[in-house]
Amino acid sequence: MKQFNPSATGAIQAIAHQMRKSGIHVYNFGTGDPVLANHPEILRAAEKNLQHKMNPYAPFAGLTELRIAAAEWMNRRYASSFDLAQSVVTCGGKFAIYASLQILVEPGDEVLVPAPYWVSYPEMIQMAAGRLVPIPTAQSSGWKMTPQDLLSHCTERSRVLILNNACNPTGVLYTKKELAEILKAARDRNLWVLSDEVYSELVFDGSEFISCASFPEHAPHVIIVESCSKNFAMAGWRVGFAFGPPSIISNIIALQSQSTSGTALISQQAAMGAILNFKEVSSYVREAMKARRDLFFKIYNHLFKTSHQPGSAAIYFFAPIGPDSIKKCKEILEKAHVALVPGIGFGVEGYARFAFSEEEDQIEQGLIALKKNLGERI
Ligand code: PLP
Repeated sequence: MKQFNPSATGAIQAIAHQMRKSGIHVYNFGTGDPVLANHPEILRAAEKNLQHKMNPYAPFAGLTELRIAAAEWMNRRYASSFDLAQSVVTCGGKFAIYASLQILVEPGDEVLVPAPYWVSYPEMIQMAAGRLVPIPTAQSSGWKMTPQDLLSHCTERSRVLILNNACNPTGVLYTKKELAEILKAARDRNLWVLSDEVYSELVFDGSEFISCASFPEHAPHVIIVESCSKNFAMAGWRVGFAFGPPSIISNIIALQSQSTSGTALISQQAAMGAILNFKEVSSYVREAMKARRDLFFKIYNHLFKTSHQPGSAAIYFFAPIGPDSIKKCKEILEKAHVALVPGIGFGVEGYARFAFSEEEDQIEQGLIALKKNLGERI
Protein backbone atom coordinates (compact mmCIF):
# COMPACT_ATOMS: atom_id res chain seq x y z
CA MET A 1 0.00 0.00 0.00
CA LYS A 2 1.28 3.49 -0.81
CA GLN A 3 1.33 5.75 2.19
CA PHE A 4 0.36 9.41 1.82
CA ASN A 5 0.81 11.81 4.71
CA PRO A 6 -2.22 13.82 5.74
CA SER A 7 -1.66 17.59 5.69
CA ALA A 8 -0.12 19.08 8.85
CA THR A 9 -3.18 21.25 9.37
CA GLY A 10 -5.31 18.11 8.95
CA ALA A 11 -3.36 16.21 11.63
CA ILE A 12 -3.95 18.90 14.26
CA GLN A 13 -7.56 19.14 13.16
CA ALA A 14 -7.91 15.37 13.71
CA ILE A 15 -6.64 15.53 17.33
CA ALA A 16 -8.79 18.59 18.00
CA HIS A 17 -11.76 16.75 16.50
CA GLN A 18 -11.24 13.83 18.90
CA MET A 19 -11.06 16.23 21.84
CA ARG A 20 -14.26 17.94 20.71
CA LYS A 21 -15.98 14.58 20.39
CA SER A 22 -15.18 13.90 24.02
CA GLY A 23 -16.82 17.19 25.00
CA ILE A 24 -13.76 19.47 25.22
CA HIS A 25 -14.02 22.92 23.65
CA VAL A 26 -10.98 23.47 21.43
CA TYR A 27 -10.06 26.96 20.26
CA ASN A 28 -9.24 26.77 16.58
CA PHE A 29 -6.19 28.75 15.56
CA GLY A 30 -5.19 25.77 13.39
CA THR A 31 -7.10 25.82 10.13
CA GLY A 32 -7.19 29.04 8.16
CA ASP A 33 -10.83 29.12 7.24
CA PRO A 34 -12.58 32.50 7.32
CA VAL A 35 -15.54 31.75 9.59
CA LEU A 36 -18.09 34.13 8.14
CA ALA A 37 -21.70 33.95 6.94
CA ASN A 38 -21.97 33.64 3.17
CA HIS A 39 -22.21 37.02 1.50
CA PRO A 40 -25.80 37.52 0.18
CA GLU A 41 -24.55 37.59 -3.45
CA ILE A 42 -23.19 34.06 -2.99
CA LEU A 43 -26.43 32.80 -1.49
CA ARG A 44 -28.53 34.53 -4.14
CA ALA A 45 -26.57 32.92 -6.96
CA ALA A 46 -26.73 29.47 -5.34
CA GLU A 47 -30.43 29.69 -4.47
CA LYS A 48 -31.45 30.86 -7.93
CA ASN A 49 -29.82 27.80 -9.43
CA LEU A 50 -31.11 25.35 -6.84
CA GLN A 51 -34.57 25.99 -8.23
CA HIS A 52 -33.62 24.46 -11.57
CA LYS A 53 -34.84 20.92 -11.84
CA MET A 54 -31.83 19.50 -13.62
CA ASN A 55 -28.57 18.40 -12.06
CA PRO A 56 -26.30 17.49 -14.95
CA TYR A 57 -22.55 17.07 -14.84
CA ALA A 58 -20.78 20.40 -15.15
CA PRO A 59 -18.28 20.71 -18.02
CA PHE A 60 -14.92 19.23 -16.96
CA ALA A 61 -13.28 22.62 -17.41
CA GLY A 62 -15.93 24.33 -15.29
CA LEU A 63 -18.86 26.44 -16.44
CA THR A 64 -17.89 28.54 -19.44
CA GLU A 65 -19.43 31.67 -17.91
CA LEU A 66 -17.46 31.15 -14.70
CA ARG A 67 -14.18 30.61 -16.59
CA ILE A 68 -14.78 33.83 -18.49
CA ALA A 69 -15.87 35.74 -15.37
CA ALA A 70 -12.78 34.50 -13.49
CA ALA A 71 -10.50 35.53 -16.36
CA GLU A 72 -12.16 38.95 -16.28
CA TRP A 73 -11.62 39.14 -12.51
CA MET A 74 -7.90 38.69 -13.17
CA ASN A 75 -7.81 41.04 -16.16
CA ARG A 76 -9.57 43.85 -14.33
CA ARG A 77 -7.19 43.67 -11.40
CA TYR A 78 -3.91 43.10 -13.25
CA ALA A 79 -4.47 44.33 -16.82
CA SER A 80 -3.72 40.79 -17.97
CA SER A 81 -5.43 39.29 -21.00
CA PHE A 82 -6.60 35.83 -19.97
CA ASP A 83 -9.35 34.33 -22.13
CA LEU A 84 -11.45 31.18 -21.95
CA ALA A 85 -8.65 28.91 -23.17
CA GLN A 86 -6.39 30.22 -20.40
CA SER A 87 -8.82 29.68 -17.53
CA VAL A 88 -10.03 26.54 -15.74
CA VAL A 89 -12.19 25.98 -12.66
CA THR A 90 -10.77 23.43 -10.21
CA CYS A 91 -11.70 21.79 -6.90
CA GLY A 92 -10.15 24.58 -4.86
CA GLY A 93 -6.75 26.11 -5.46
CA LYS A 94 -5.36 22.89 -4.04
CA PHE A 95 -6.31 20.82 -7.07
CA ALA A 96 -4.97 23.50 -9.42
CA ILE A 97 -1.56 23.16 -7.73
CA TYR A 98 -1.74 19.36 -7.66
CA ALA A 99 -2.70 19.16 -11.34
CA SER A 100 -0.04 21.67 -12.42
CA LEU A 101 2.67 19.68 -10.64
CA GLN A 102 1.42 16.42 -12.15
CA ILE A 103 1.72 18.01 -15.59
CA LEU A 104 5.04 19.83 -15.21
CA VAL A 105 7.14 17.51 -13.09
CA GLU A 106 8.96 14.48 -14.50
CA PRO A 107 10.35 11.91 -12.05
CA GLY A 108 13.39 13.35 -10.28
CA ASP A 109 12.73 16.95 -11.33
CA GLU A 110 13.39 19.56 -8.67
CA VAL A 111 10.72 21.91 -7.43
CA LEU A 112 12.06 24.98 -5.69
CA VAL A 113 10.02 26.43 -2.86
CA PRO A 114 10.91 29.28 -0.47
CA ALA A 115 10.58 28.12 3.15
CA PRO A 116 8.46 28.57 5.19
CA TYR A 117 5.99 27.16 2.68
CA TRP A 118 2.40 25.99 2.65
CA VAL A 119 2.19 22.55 4.25
CA SER A 120 0.77 20.70 1.23
CA TYR A 121 3.51 21.49 -1.31
CA PRO A 122 6.04 18.81 -0.20
CA GLU A 123 3.56 15.96 -0.41
CA MET A 124 2.14 17.17 -3.71
CA ILE A 125 5.66 17.36 -5.16
CA GLN A 126 6.31 13.83 -3.95
CA MET A 127 3.06 12.63 -5.54
CA ALA A 128 4.36 14.01 -8.83
CA ALA A 129 7.64 12.04 -8.24
CA GLY A 130 9.51 15.33 -7.94
CA ARG A 131 12.03 16.47 -5.38
CA LEU A 132 11.39 19.39 -3.03
CA VAL A 133 14.25 21.89 -2.87
CA PRO A 134 13.48 24.30 -0.03
CA ILE A 135 15.02 27.76 -0.27
CA PRO A 136 15.41 28.94 3.32
CA THR A 137 14.38 32.50 4.12
CA ALA A 138 14.86 34.29 7.45
CA GLN A 139 12.59 36.34 9.64
CA SER A 140 15.39 38.93 9.87
CA SER A 141 15.16 39.53 6.10
CA GLY A 142 11.37 39.67 6.11
CA TRP A 143 10.95 36.00 5.10
CA LYS A 144 11.69 36.93 1.48
CA MET A 145 13.50 34.99 -1.20
CA THR A 146 15.83 36.97 -3.46
CA PRO A 147 16.67 36.11 -7.09
CA GLN A 148 20.18 35.24 -5.86
CA ASP A 149 18.69 32.74 -3.37
CA LEU A 150 16.76 31.20 -6.24
CA LEU A 151 19.72 31.00 -8.61
CA SER A 152 22.00 29.50 -5.98
CA HIS A 153 19.57 26.59 -5.51
CA CYS A 154 19.11 25.83 -9.23
CA THR A 155 20.61 22.75 -10.85
CA GLU A 156 20.19 21.00 -14.20
CA ARG A 157 17.14 19.24 -12.77
CA SER A 158 15.31 22.37 -11.57
CA ARG A 159 11.93 22.57 -13.25
CA VAL A 160 9.39 24.58 -11.24
CA LEU A 161 9.42 27.42 -8.72
CA ILE A 162 6.38 27.57 -6.45
CA LEU A 163 5.98 31.14 -5.30
CA ASN A 164 3.30 31.77 -2.70
CA ASN A 165 2.47 35.47 -2.70
CA ALA A 166 0.89 36.54 -0.30
CA CYS A 167 2.55 33.88 1.79
CA ASN A 168 0.96 31.37 4.11
CA PRO A 169 2.22 31.32 6.90
CA THR A 170 4.15 34.63 7.02
CA GLY A 171 1.76 37.04 5.28
CA VAL A 172 4.68 38.36 3.23
CA LEU A 173 3.97 40.28 0.02
CA TYR A 174 6.47 40.70 -2.81
CA THR A 175 6.87 44.10 -4.50
CA LYS A 176 6.69 44.66 -8.25
CA LYS A 177 10.47 45.06 -8.49
CA GLU A 178 11.13 41.91 -6.47
CA LEU A 179 8.70 39.89 -8.57
CA ALA A 180 10.15 41.23 -11.83
CA GLU A 181 13.63 40.12 -10.75
CA ILE A 182 12.46 36.70 -9.54
CA LEU A 183 10.48 36.08 -12.74
CA LYS A 184 13.47 37.06 -14.85
CA ALA A 185 15.80 34.76 -12.89
CA ALA A 186 13.28 31.94 -13.28
CA ARG A 187 13.03 32.51 -17.03
CA ASP A 188 16.82 32.59 -17.37
CA ARG A 189 16.90 29.14 -15.78
CA ASN A 190 13.95 27.82 -17.84
CA LEU A 191 11.78 27.38 -14.78
CA TRP A 192 8.03 27.28 -14.73
CA VAL A 193 6.62 29.60 -12.07
CA LEU A 194 3.59 28.28 -10.23
CA SER A 195 2.31 31.41 -8.54
CA ASP A 196 -0.03 30.57 -5.68
CA GLU A 197 -2.08 33.74 -5.14
CA VAL A 198 -5.03 32.40 -3.15
CA TYR A 199 -4.83 35.30 -0.64
CA SER A 200 -4.77 38.04 -3.32
CA GLU A 201 -7.83 39.86 -1.97
CA LEU A 202 -6.83 39.62 1.71
CA VAL A 203 -4.29 42.42 1.73
CA PHE A 204 -4.51 45.04 4.46
CA ASP A 205 -3.44 48.54 5.49
CA GLY A 206 -3.37 49.89 1.93
CA SER A 207 -0.62 47.48 0.87
CA GLU A 208 -0.60 46.65 -2.80
CA PHE A 209 -0.91 43.12 -4.07
CA ILE A 210 1.13 42.47 -7.21
CA SER A 211 0.30 39.39 -9.22
CA CYS A 212 2.64 37.48 -11.49
CA ALA A 213 -0.16 38.00 -14.03
CA SER A 214 0.95 41.65 -14.26
CA PHE A 215 4.04 40.65 -16.29
CA PRO A 216 2.84 39.77 -19.81
CA GLU A 217 6.41 39.14 -20.94
CA HIS A 218 6.53 36.17 -18.52
CA ALA A 219 3.10 34.72 -19.34
CA PRO A 220 4.52 31.76 -21.36
CA HIS A 221 6.16 30.26 -18.23
CA VAL A 222 3.74 31.31 -15.49
CA ILE A 223 0.68 29.56 -14.05
CA ILE A 224 -1.46 31.49 -11.56
CA VAL A 225 -3.50 29.67 -8.93
CA GLU A 226 -6.50 31.45 -7.46
CA SER A 227 -9.33 30.46 -5.17
CA CYS A 228 -12.67 31.50 -3.70
CA SER A 229 -11.84 29.80 -0.37
CA LYS A 230 -10.17 32.69 1.45
CA ASN A 231 -10.85 35.68 -0.82
CA PHE A 232 -14.61 35.17 -0.62
CA ALA A 233 -14.84 33.00 2.55
CA MET A 234 -16.06 30.01 0.54
CA ALA A 235 -13.61 27.28 1.64
CA GLY A 236 -16.23 24.54 1.86
CA TRP A 237 -17.62 25.22 -1.61
CA ARG A 238 -14.32 24.07 -3.17
CA VAL A 239 -13.85 26.45 -6.06
CA GLY A 240 -10.43 27.42 -7.35
CA PHE A 241 -8.84 28.37 -10.67
CA ALA A 242 -5.72 28.06 -12.75
CA PHE A 243 -4.77 30.63 -15.36
CA GLY A 244 -1.92 30.08 -17.79
CA PRO A 245 -0.86 29.06 -21.29
CA PRO A 246 -3.61 27.18 -23.20
CA SER A 247 -1.41 24.05 -23.51
CA ILE A 248 -1.21 23.79 -19.70
CA ILE A 249 -4.86 24.63 -19.11
CA SER A 250 -6.10 22.04 -21.62
CA ASN A 251 -3.91 19.47 -19.88
CA ILE A 252 -5.38 20.37 -16.47
CA ILE A 253 -8.84 19.97 -18.00
CA ALA A 254 -7.88 16.53 -19.34
CA LEU A 255 -6.48 15.48 -15.94
CA GLN A 256 -9.61 16.78 -14.27
CA SER A 257 -11.84 14.91 -16.75
CA GLN A 258 -10.13 11.67 -15.70
CA SER A 259 -10.16 12.32 -11.96
CA THR A 260 -12.51 14.73 -10.17
CA SER A 261 -14.72 15.67 -13.18
CA GLY A 262 -14.45 19.21 -11.85
CA THR A 263 -16.08 20.87 -8.90
CA ALA A 264 -19.79 20.76 -7.99
CA LEU A 265 -22.16 22.66 -10.24
CA ILE A 266 -23.90 24.44 -7.37
CA SER A 267 -20.53 25.61 -6.03
CA GLN A 268 -19.63 27.04 -9.41
CA GLN A 269 -22.93 28.89 -9.57
CA ALA A 270 -22.36 30.26 -6.06
CA ALA A 271 -18.85 31.31 -7.13
CA MET A 272 -20.38 33.30 -10.00
CA GLY A 273 -22.17 35.39 -7.37
CA ALA A 274 -18.84 36.12 -5.68
CA ILE A 275 -16.77 36.76 -8.81
CA LEU A 276 -19.29 39.03 -10.52
CA ASN A 277 -19.42 41.10 -7.32
CA PHE A 278 -15.81 40.58 -6.31
CA LYS A 279 -15.19 44.08 -4.98
CA GLU A 280 -18.13 43.96 -2.62
CA VAL A 281 -17.67 40.36 -1.51
CA SER A 282 -13.92 40.59 -0.98
CA SER A 283 -14.18 43.81 0.98
CA TYR A 284 -16.77 42.15 3.25
CA VAL A 285 -14.27 39.35 3.97
CA ARG A 286 -11.25 41.66 4.15
CA GLU A 287 -12.85 43.98 6.68
CA ALA A 288 -13.85 41.07 8.90
CA MET A 289 -10.38 39.51 8.70
CA LYS A 290 -8.66 42.82 9.38
CA ALA A 291 -10.77 43.37 12.49
CA ARG A 292 -9.86 39.85 13.70
CA ARG A 293 -6.19 40.37 12.89
CA ASP A 294 -6.08 43.65 14.82
CA LEU A 295 -7.90 42.13 17.78
CA PHE A 296 -5.59 39.10 17.75
CA PHE A 297 -2.39 41.16 17.85
CA LYS A 298 -3.75 43.60 20.42
CA ILE A 299 -4.62 40.82 22.85
CA TYR A 300 -1.59 38.65 22.07
CA ASN A 301 0.92 41.48 22.54
CA HIS A 302 -0.83 42.61 25.71
CA LEU A 303 -1.00 39.15 27.30
CA PHE A 304 2.50 38.04 26.37
CA LYS A 305 4.16 41.47 26.66
CA THR A 306 5.41 41.28 23.08
CA SER A 307 5.33 43.80 20.24
CA HIS A 308 4.72 41.63 17.18
CA GLN A 309 3.54 43.47 14.11
CA PRO A 310 0.85 41.95 11.90
CA GLY A 311 1.79 40.95 8.36
CA SER A 312 0.32 42.88 5.42
CA ALA A 313 -1.73 40.00 4.06
CA ALA A 314 -3.42 36.64 4.64
CA ILE A 315 -4.86 35.41 7.92
CA TYR A 316 -1.89 34.09 9.88
CA PHE A 317 0.75 34.87 12.46
CA PHE A 318 3.93 32.80 12.31
CA ALA A 319 4.94 32.97 15.96
CA PRO A 320 8.31 32.09 17.47
CA ILE A 321 7.71 29.38 20.09
CA GLY A 322 11.13 27.80 20.67
CA PRO A 323 12.51 24.42 19.59
CA ASP A 324 10.45 21.30 18.83
CA SER A 325 7.29 22.85 17.48
CA ILE A 326 5.38 19.55 17.37
CA LYS A 327 5.97 18.89 21.07
CA LYS A 328 5.08 22.46 21.93
CA CYS A 329 1.88 22.46 19.86
CA LYS A 330 0.77 19.17 21.42
CA GLU A 331 1.42 20.60 24.87
CA ILE A 332 -0.56 23.72 23.99
CA LEU A 333 -3.44 21.63 22.63
CA GLU A 334 -3.53 19.39 25.69
CA LYS A 335 -3.08 22.08 28.34
CA ALA A 336 -4.83 25.12 26.87
CA HIS A 337 -7.12 23.41 24.35
CA VAL A 338 -5.74 25.69 21.67
CA ALA A 339 -5.05 24.23 18.22
CA LEU A 340 -2.05 25.62 16.29
CA VAL A 341 0.04 24.23 13.42
CA PRO A 342 3.69 23.35 14.20
CA GLY A 343 6.25 25.35 12.22
CA ILE A 344 8.03 22.21 11.09
CA GLY A 345 5.04 21.47 8.83
CA PHE A 346 5.98 24.67 6.97
CA GLY A 347 9.62 23.59 6.76
CA VAL A 348 10.87 25.87 9.58
CA GLU A 349 11.44 24.75 13.16
CA GLY A 350 10.95 27.03 16.18
CA TYR A 351 7.62 28.54 15.13
CA ALA A 352 3.91 27.80 15.18
CA ARG A 353 1.21 29.21 12.95
CA PHE A 354 -1.84 30.92 14.39
CA ALA A 355 -4.79 31.49 12.05
CA PHE A 356 -6.92 34.43 13.19
CA SER A 357 -9.90 33.70 10.95
CA GLU A 358 -12.27 32.54 13.70
CA GLU A 359 -14.90 34.76 15.29
CA GLU A 360 -13.78 37.49 17.72
CA ASP A 361 -14.99 35.84 20.93
CA GLN A 362 -13.07 32.66 20.05
CA ILE A 363 -9.91 34.65 19.39
CA GLU A 364 -10.20 36.46 22.70
CA GLN A 365 -11.11 33.43 24.80
CA GLY A 366 -8.53 31.24 23.05
CA LEU A 367 -5.68 33.64 23.75
CA ILE A 368 -6.79 34.02 27.36
CA ALA A 369 -6.82 30.21 27.70
CA LEU A 370 -3.32 30.11 26.23
CA LYS A 371 -2.03 32.66 28.70
CA LYS A 372 -3.77 31.03 31.67
CA ASN A 373 -2.34 27.60 30.93
CA LEU A 374 1.10 28.50 29.63
CA GLY A 375 1.91 31.68 31.51
CA GLU A 376 4.81 33.62 30.00
CA ARG A 377 6.11 30.59 28.15
CA ILE A 378 4.95 31.17 24.60
N1 PLP B 1 -2.48 27.66 -1.27
C1 PLP B 1 -2.28 28.13 -0.03
C2 PLP B 1 -1.07 28.93 0.26
C3 PLP B 1 -3.21 27.87 0.97
O1 PLP B 1 -3.00 28.35 2.21
C4 PLP B 1 -4.34 27.09 0.68
C5 PLP B 1 -5.30 26.73 1.73
O2 PLP B 1 -5.07 26.86 2.90
C6 PLP B 1 -4.51 26.64 -0.64
C7 PLP B 1 -3.56 26.95 -1.59
C8 PLP B 1 -5.67 25.82 -1.07
O3 PLP B 1 -6.88 26.43 -0.86
P1 PLP B 1 -8.22 25.89 -1.49
O4 PLP B 1 -7.97 24.54 -2.07
O5 PLP B 1 -9.20 25.86 -0.38
O6 PLP B 1 -8.56 26.88 -2.56
